[in-house]
Order: sequence, then C-alpha cells, then structure tokens
Amino acid sequence: MDINPQPTYITSIQESILEPYNLQLDILRIDLLHPTISGNKWYKLKYNIAHAKDLKKNLLISFGGAYSNHLHALAFAGEQANIPTLGIVRGEQVDNDTLNDCKKWGMQLKFISRLNYKKKDTKEFTDKLLNEYPNAFIIPEGGSNELGIKGCTEIVSACDTSMYDFIVCAIGTGTTFAGVVNSLRIHQHAIGFTAMKNGEYLIPHIKSLVATQNWSIETQYAFGGFGKIQKEVTSWIQAFEQKHGLEFDFVYTAKMTKGLMHKIHENYFPKGSKILAIHTGGTQGNRSWK
Ligand SMILES: *Cc1c(COP(=O)(O)O)cnc(C)c1O
Repeated sequence: MDINPQPTYITSIQESILEPYNLQLDILRIDLLHPTISGNKWYKLKYNIAHAKDLKKNLLISFGGAYSNHLHALAFAGEQANIPTLGIVRGEQVDNDTLNDCKKWGMQLKFISRLNYKKKDTKEFTDKLLNEYPNAFIIPEGGSNELGIKGCTEIVSACDTSMYDFIVCAIGTGTTFAGVVNSLRIHQHAIGFTAMKNGEYLIPHIKSLVATQNWSIETQYAFGGFGKIQKEVTSWIQAFEQKHGLEFDFVYTAKMTKGLMHKIHENYFPKGSKILAIHTGGTQGNRSWK
C-alpha cells in the first residue's frame, strides 16, 4: 500500500513530579506515523487490507460510531489501497468532520439503529451483509481480529524500546494492547488504561489473546465513560499541549496519561523506572469539542 509510515520517535517528558521518584517518562509517538492515519489504526489495518487484497476482495466493510478513528483510518487506507469501503455507523444519521472525511475518501456510509448495531457480530447479521455484498471482506469494529493484533506487535518493536521497564497503552477493544503485550521482553510489564466504564470485562478477554502474564489493567480512569467530553480531560489536553507541545486525544490517550500521572503520585512505580507511554493517535476526534 502507498502509505509510508514515518519512522517512529520518542518524546521525553520533563515534569517535576517525576523527579522525587527518579522516573523517566517517554512517549512513543505513533500519533505522528502519518498525517491522516494516525497511530494504532494503521497497525491494525495493514494486515487486514493486505489479506483482503490477497483474497481479491472488492469491498472492505467495518463498523464504528460517528466519531470513529477506525472508520476514518479505514476510509483513507481503502482509498490508498484502491479498495472501496463501506462504513456501518451506529445510530441515527449525522454529519460531522470525521464522517465528512470518510465520504471524501469514498467511503459509503450506512447508519443503523443502536439495537441493530449490537447484533453486528452475529452470524445472521454478517450472512445478510455477505448476501448483499458477496465479495466483501468484513473487518470487525476497531480492527479487532488476529490480523489486527499481529500488526500491533510491531508498534513497540519499530524502534529500540528494550530499556523500558513499563509500557503504557490505552485500551478500547484491547487489540492494540494484546499486540503490545505479545511483543514485550520478559523484563517488561505493560499497563493498559481502559477508556470505558466497567472495563473489567476486558481482563478475561485480553487473557485469551496473549501468552504471558506481565501485564495489568487500570479501569478507574474512564472519566465519565467512553467518548464523553469532560472538562477535566479537555483541560488536561490543553495544559499538556501548552507545556510539552503534544496533543492527546480526548477518548483514549488523555485519560491514559492522566491516569498514569495519578499512578505516579500514588507511588506505583519503583524508583528509577523507565516508562514508555504509547501515543496511539486519534487527535482528529478532538474536532468534536474544539
Ligand atoms: C482506537 C484507539 C485506541 C484503542 O485501541 P484498541 O485496539 O481498540 O484497544 C487507543 N487509542 C487511540 C487514540 C485510538 O484511536
């Protein structure tokens, strides 16, 4: 495909809060991977799209909400790869920047009721879709399949990250986190911060996707729930951007870093730890509150 990801790089964060604990905090900037497809969405899509091409499929179908970073990335990647895309969007028809981008890149949009959307992974639902679009390749919501995980094993290994003790990552479906965990070295520990309320259900799910136990999940930093716009979170984004010149997205990475700072305050990390937090991208969604 004609997407040439930028080489990944790392931004070091200087904060007085790190000093008493002698911590090193660095951010892995996969948000800078590409001007349009930012971050983990590209890693989750790359093998899916390659596979669909191998199978000579003529349509990529996937699912998401009206601000979905995943549909946004899929629309662009599909256009680049020359495969038409169909986005099935949860809820009533709306117009926004995210969906306008999708349309601009040729994605066909289909809005379905929330009730119907809940059934999207059932055999009945996919059979119906494939009946309508017989040569389509269906990618689950968020790119959450084995090929998605496989792509995400390349996130941390794209540059030398062997010196870090902790790798920190935001969690939606857990696909990115599973890929990250599967690529860790034995001395490393991954911490996932869930972006939705009651994220505990992800623990058995991730257990089923990874082979090791050097990971844990923090579920207390959902700040009002998935996709909710909270002043506390948007202020954090603006303050951090002013101070460090990098922007987090409000759905995932802002909550992750806010939660991470809280864990640092709580003395969670052994003195002298080196922490690498992954900026998974997604800042296009900030247009919804800016
Ligand atoms: C989609 C997304 C995530 C969540 O990824 P999953 O693989 O679904 O867990 C994290 N961060 C950002 C910025 C995202 O857009």
